[in-house]
Amino acid sequence: MNIQPTYSSLDYPGKMALVLFIPGCDLRCKYCHNPQLLKNESLSRWDIEEVEEEIDKNVDFIDAIVISGGEALLHIDVVKHYIQKAKEFDLLIKLDTNGLHPENLNQIIDDLDYVAIDIKAPLDKYYKISDVYPNNVKESINKSIDIILNHNVFLECRTTYVPNLLKPEDIQELTRNLRCNIYTLQQFRNRVTYDISLSTYEEPNPEDLVEIINSLDTTIPEIHLKSNQFGNQTIKKE
Ligand code: SF4
Repeated sequence: MNIQPTYSSLDYPGKMALVLFIPGCDLRCKYCHNPQLLKNESLSRWDIEEVEEEIDKNVDFIDAIVISGGEALLHIDVVKHYIQKAKEFDLLIKLDTNGLHPENLNQIIDDLDYVAIDIKAPLDKYYKISDVYPNNVKESINKSIDIILNHNVFLECRTTYVPNLLKPEDIQELTRNLRCNIYTLQQFRNRVTYDISLSTYEEPNPEDLVEIINSLDTTIPEIHLKSNQFGNQTIKKE
């Protein structure tokens, strides 16, 4: 197992969840805080059984599973396996994804209750965050958003704000026509990063992030700020 499942009351809002991490990713975000998950390792039968046992043992204490990564949709068969297990116990199911795999998302969308897509930067500016990215970022993410909204699944979009990599104008641009139920601006943390040079970057000040949120011209109904100092705060709500 690459990363043990963890229990969290923060990853599925208002619910106690078991967060399952699936390895492999097709991006290399400089700030990635799970760099040990980037290698596209396959999960063994033992890994999967271990997770299933964890769900069996603790089902009375959890409301939901969160399937996270890495990029979980690279291992669609494992994702389907976890979904099947969660459905046995009527657990809610949330998927964290980079939004780049709409075909795989389409295979499981009927079983999902909540999807969080990380929007790294304006869709034509992924070079600011990752040296590696597919050339159809815009098309794939828009397709993923269409699939989620057409199935009436709750959609959160999130961006991690690293002052040295992004500017307030980037957040204004990427949120201008973004379609989602909640948008969350996340404070960059410099503890563990894929590109170790980012450990010398300053973490942005929450007040500056609130100022960015207040400058946004968007129809997104609810905007949150997630920071180390104040947790998950609602900054704007219709
Ligand atoms: S932060 Fe980027 S590189 Fe890391 S798992 Fe998420 S999408 Fe992949």
